[in-house]
Amino acid sequence: MRENSVLSVQNLHVVYSALRGTVKAVRDVSFELNKKECLAFIGESGSGKSTLGTSLISLIPGTGRVSSGKIIYRGNSKDIDIAKLSENEVRKIRWKEIAMVFQSALNSFNPVLRIWNHILETAKAHGVNDKEFVQKKSLELLELVQLDPERVLKSFPHELSGGMKQRTLIAMSLLLDPKILILDEPTTALDILTQKNIIELLKKIKDELELAMIFISHDLSIAAELADRVATMYGGKIVEIGPTDDIFYRPKHPYTKGLLKAVPKISGGFEELFSIPGEPPDLINPPSGCPFHPRCGYVEEVCKKEAPQLEQVEGNHYVACYKWRGITDGE
Ligand code: ATP
Ligand code: MG
Repeated sequence: MRENSVLSVQNLHVVYSALRGTVKAVRDVSFELNKKECLAFIGESGSGKSTLGTSLISLIPGTGRVSSGKIIYRGNSKDIDIAKLSENEVRKIRWKEIAMVFQSALNSFNPVLRIWNHILETAKAHGVNDKEFVQKKSLELLELVQLDPERVLKSFPHELSGGMKQRTLIAMSLLLDPKILILDEPTTALDILTQKNIIELLKKIKDELELAMIFISHDLSIAAELADRVATMYGGKIVEIGPTDDIFYRPKHPYTKGLLKAVPKISGGFEELFSIPGEPPDLINPPSGCPFHPRCGYVEEVCKKEAPQLEQVEGNHYVACYKWRGITDGE
């Protein structure tokens, strides 16, 4: 584990048991998250982003479980493998050390509870019963996320806009001063202007609180505004990872290139938006070799046989593709 790393995920596999078989949702994923860094995970629906995110705090939904691999959290004094902790042990870390804003959490507010009661209940559920502490900290954090604290605490969820609710959720996630914040599609349900404001807010919070962040999104252009590094996921695997500029301006994996072409450009006029042909892989029976080979324009025999490993492009930029050297930028 590197000196400035707060989280080290090593050869992580996560599976769900389904009627049809075992869903291999996260497959051999390894990465380091550095202190004060924002690492974004991008990829199409079903690529395993939320499964990965929830596994980091042992909240994989349904039948999901880590089948092998390590999730090493570097606590204050020693390294802890979250994948090996009991539920009781992981409760000491969840929300206190690593917090998460869940995908679709915007819709999960109880409509009959005022925000203050919502915060209190959530705090209690995490074993925090000191009402005075919760109140003082909530006021402070709502201020930090640029809301009117008194007004928001008294409000019912329907009295807040989507952006205000998302800010409230972000404030709640920070109640116990976590070191790592995982955000799963925090801007997806919001209009473009509100998305931008939330990204600006997250930048501010990251700097002020010196947080490490994992930012999950299907939208590379949004992720690029916030992240220091970006990882592309496909079929449960990281197929490319590197500094944001490298991934955004000089992507090497044909899938990352496809994702970039699928981003609407404000100056793009009426040009038809590219969408990657074909279907995402079936994770019960993933394709042999490179998971992207059935949809890849550069496919060769070798791609069908053996999965390519991540190899260095330059510096911190890695790609898992046999053909990356032959693919020129701009294609
Ligand atoms: P999205 O962009 O739609 O949120 P995602 O990248 O977050 O997608 P996941 O939700 O992690 O993807 O899903 C990864 C795979 O695991 C998919 O094949 C999905 O069908 C499967 N999966 C997710 N949740 C469950 C579950 N509770 N039970 C069974 N399979 C699941
Ligand atoms: Mg998801």
